[in-house]
This record gives sequence, structure tokens and C-alpha cells, in this order.
Amino acid sequence: MSFEYDDQNIFAKILRGEIPNSTVLETEHSLAFHDIAAQAPVHVLVIPKGAYVTYDHFIAEASDAEIVDFNRAIGEVCRLMKLSGADTDGGFRIIANAGAHALQEVPHLHMHVLGGRPLGLLLDRG
Ligand code: AMP
Repeated sequence: MSFEYDDQNIFAKILRGEIPNSTVLETEHSLAFHDIAAQAPVHVLVIPKGAYVTYDHFIAEASDAEIVDFNRAIGEVCRLMKLSGADTDGGFRIIANAGAHALQEVPHLHMHVLGGRPLGLLLDRG
């Protein structure tokens, strides 16, 4: 399996500091920032700093340290945004789109962390 990474994608530019972002959390291997077109009161994107296109690419090629860091960053974002733990009873949803069927727009792995309102069905029925 091979994955081609386009280093001109918008999240690569964010990671290089070429365009701004609204940072929620930065760790050694991950960055979390507010989605520019939020679809819920909380809509944060968590990305690995490494050049990975999709979740399966990441899991196939990332180091254990990157995978642990990324997953802990997602959990920490939930805590910081008051979606988890004692702060909330509302819950949240995490989604990673991959490829055309999932309508992935930006070809750098990103986990959507969504919450703050009822989120409806997981999938539309269309
Ligand atoms: P996806 O369809 O899963 O690839 O989602 C891409 C997401 O990136 C969308 O929710 C966009 O609103 C978001 N997005 C695009 N450009 C930026 C940006 N410069 N800063 C923050 N979020 C962005």
C-alpha cells in the first residue's frame, strides 16, 4: 500500500506556519485548532504533525510515539473543550474522513472533535 502526500495542502501550510490557525493544543507530534467553518459549538480538528493523508496511512506508518501522542491529544482536546469527564453530560463525536466516499477535503489526516449540541444521525440516509 502506498500513500502520496501533497505538501501543499492547507494543513501542511498551517504546520509550516505559512497560514494562521486558532490553536487549542500543541504537543510534540500533534496540533489541535478550531475548524474555520465550525459545524457545532465545539468543532476542533486534531492533526498529526507528520505527513499522513488518512487514518489508515497514519496507523500503517507512524511511530508508536506519534500514535500515542495523537490519541492523547484528542482526549485532551475533549477535556479542554469540556466535552468529557465531570464537566459535561452531553457527549461528543470524533470523525476522520478519508477519501472520496467520505468527502475528505483536506488530504492531511484530521480528526474532527464535535460537541456542544445534539449531533444528529451519524450518517445521512441519502
Ligand atoms: P474534511 O472534509 O474532513 O477534509 O474536513 C476539512 C475541514 O477543514 C473542514 O471542516 C473545513 O472547514 C476545515 N478547514 C479548511 N481550511 C481550514 C483552515 N484554514 N483552518 C481551520 N479549518 C479549516
